[in-house]
Amino acid sequence: MTNTLVQNESINKVEEIKDSILEHLCFNLGKSPRIATLHDWYMATAYAARERMMRNFVSYTEKMQNKKLKIVGYLSAEFLMGPHLGNALINLGIENETKKAVEQLGINLNDVLEQEEEPGLGNGGLGRLAACYLDSLATLQVPSVGYGIRYEFGIFDQTIRDGWQVEVTDKWLRNGNPWEIVKPELNYTVKLGGHTESYTDDKGNYRVKWMAESEIKGIAYDTPVPGYKNGVTGILRLWKSEAVESFDFHAFDKGDYYGAVHEKVFSENISKVLYPNDVSDEGKRLRLSQQYFFVSCSLQNAFHILNLRGLSIEEFPESMTFQLNDTHPSIAIAELMRLLIDEHQVSWDKAWDMTKRTFAYTNHTLLPEALEKWSLPLFAHVLPRPLEIIYEINSRFLLTIRDKYPGDEDRVKRMSIIDERGNKSVRMAHLATIGSHAINGVSALHTKLLKQDVLHDFYELEPEIFFNVTNGVTPRRWIKLYNPRLASLVTTHIGEGWVNHLETDLIKLEQYANDASFQQAWHDVKRQNKTDLADLIQTVVGTKVNPDSLFDIQVKRIHEYKRQHLNVLYIAHLYNRIKQKRAEGIVPRTFIFGGKAAPGYFMAKLIIKLINSVAETVNNDPEVNGLIKVVFFPDFNVKNGAHVYKAADLSEQISTAGKEASGTGNMKFAMNGALTIGTFDGANIEIMECVGEENFFLFGLHAAEVAETKANGYWPYDIYNNDQELKQVIDMIQSGVFSHGDTNVFKPFVDSLLNVDPFLVFKDFRAYVECQEKVSAAYANQKVWTKMSILNVARMGMFSSDRSIKDYCENIWKVAHG
Ligand SMILES: *Cc1c(COP(=O)(O)O)cnc(C)c1O
Repeated sequence: MTNTLVQNESINKVEEIKDSILEHLCFNLGKSPRIATLHDWYMATAYAARERMMRNFVSYTEKMQNKKLKIVGYLSAEFLMGPHLGNALINLGIENETKKAVEQLGINLNDVLEQEEEPGLGNGGLGRLAACYLDSLATLQVPSVGYGIRYEFGIFDQTIRDGWQVEVTDKWLRNGNPWEIVKPELNYTVKLGGHTESYTDDKGNYRVKWMAESEIKGIAYDTPVPGYKNGVTGILRLWKSEAVESFDFHAFDKGDYYGAVHEKVFSENISKVLYPNDVSDEGKRLRLSQQYFFVSCSLQNAFHILNLRGLSIEEFPESMTFQLNDTHPSIAIAELMRLLIDEHQVSWDKAWDMTKRTFAYTNHTLLPEALEKWSLPLFAHVLPRPLEIIYEINSRFLLTIRDKYPGDEDRVKRMSIIDERGNKSVRMAHLATIGSHAINGVSALHTKLLKQDVLHDFYELEPEIFFNVTNGVTPRRWIKLYNPRLASLVTTHIGEGWVNHLETDLIKLEQYANDASFQQAWHDVKRQNKTDLADLIQTVVGTKVNPDSLFDIQVKRIHEYKRQHLNVLYIAHLYNRIKQKRAEGIVPRTFIFGGKAAPGYFMAKLIIKLINSVAETVNNDPEVNGLIKVVFFPDFNVKNGAHVYKAADLSEQISTAGKEASGTGNMKFAMNGALTIGTFDGANIEIMECVGEENFFLFGLHAAEVAETKANGYWPYDIYNNDQELKQVIDMIQSGVFSHGDTNVFKPFVDSLLNVDPFLVFKDFRAYVECQEKVSAAYANQKVWTKMSILNVARMGMFSSDRSIKDYCENIWKVAHG
């Protein structure tokens, strides 16, 4: 095509998009341009983009009717999608045209994008991973459906009052959601509670009937997921709960109207709110009901799709494969068995074979307290029939263990799905492992530790079903959309193939690492990104920060294992040095934190308070004179992440070794040009291997040393006594230096560190300080730093979620990919 042709086509596209926006403004919103608000313009633009996806959506859904294609069902209790519009425009390849179209309507596209409230249907990394995977599945043209819950209230909005986190309900649906399409005809009934009755059918078979206490209905809400410039639109299918008409027949029989209404309220509450705990969850009836609810709807929908494709029940495992994103959906194993046996009259052995071939399980955590367990009485109360099936799965499984390891009753107890110790419970990780044909960890270290510790017995039994799939993130959202300056600099030099071929193309940047003018351009991009963030901080937090200082950023959920407090102790240490006139070697730094704490996690909330208290003291001390600044950026989410990752010089990935399964924030930072200070944990290790040790700031204990330290008896108090600088920092916090003299507020924090220090903050403190000094020295030489930054980005190709999805396709799902 000649340039004029391209130009004409583009002009036509602009006209077309403009017309489409105006039509939607009129027909869907009932507004004229004169009275339209910015939000109206956002809605109209969203509808215009959605319209373009729907044609692909329909043809893609048609394609899924092709019997030979195996469909991937990605089961996840969380999808942290982030705002849709910007991403849709990038993937549809119409961002420039849309920008021009809205400009011609007198509006700025960024103002329009700013209107979108993100669907916060996830807590953090796990939910965001699911979202990156949907983007890659569509981009790689893998027929797939993401299945989850349409929470009416997602993760709470975080505000900060007097330094403390205050949670505000996330009413993300209040202004309407232009992206979803309700499918009332796709509705399924889900049973809860009650009891079971057995009988013999007319062929003489033993059968079980679940006499439920109540039934709820799940309705499908579909959100299109565009692939990158490939005409494909995938599906995110979320279930909303509703009461069925005769909501509680038993209660009505007894004339218990109020009781019946209570049950109705319960059913309607199932999809009401996301549990805001990213790691562990107490045994809540509603949470278990949520998990069963969305899994049952999804599997019933899979039978519907099977039927549409004209396939038989026996063909289920060849027709669909289901990935369990952690144990949250692992009840699916019992539910598929139930559907096959109770509803489709399949024999146990055949059903079990089919079930195992259908599921694969991704483990996401090594923290013992985060391994999901449900108390047996609760489970029996909510899911009596699935529990019977779990008992049967377990007894058959344990027979094979006793057969293979005669006399090893300890092993039988360890491997049982039912934990018989103390208050009996159901171990969901065991159910997921036993019911799957593939189990994977999410980084090389994590997989190694899974095999070694958490699932060791299972690994011994069947080593060939364990895999590693290192996490990845999508370069469409995390580079092209959220770092347009860097994206355009990169494209100018190596072409735009990197956007969907990161693994092969990004490395071409290496040749420019020593190029002085490229280095300058690279540095300028970072500098402008930092200025943008500095402006935003000024607006949101009211703190003035210097864009020429080192931007040292830690954004992620607040948790002791992630060790935001190690970072804070270092800041307090720098402050102490400044006060003691020992500031030599300190480079100007801005420490930026962001992240939500689970509302019931006292220590995490106290860490937020400490960060804000240190910020207040340090930022307002004239002796510091702006040398260091501390900022807590409130309400960290995908939308705010857009401004944060791209502006970082230094990425803080300082979890206790062996605790962070992978991390994905570490990848987003590094592929946007931040250098990492990190422990030997999760995907940090693989990042370091890729970018080179010389371009990575590694410190601290290794996982094995962490385990050893704890096993040998760890005395944090001794470390405190033997490290004068650490002692001074802790004493400052305790004595109220950061709390206007209040010696009570941080006492639980100090006590916990001195007496227990469960995540070895003291043990790693000295190594961290020394490593931070290396960072400061390196930053002092901007040319060298920039070169390191370029090399980091150039070598991050393997951390595209496209690579992860290809690994799943090839090793686990056995499906073709584009
Ligand atoms: C990437 C991301 C996370 C995960 O961050 P980690 O550093 O891997 O814990 C959490 N929340 C949001 C909003 C993200 O975008």
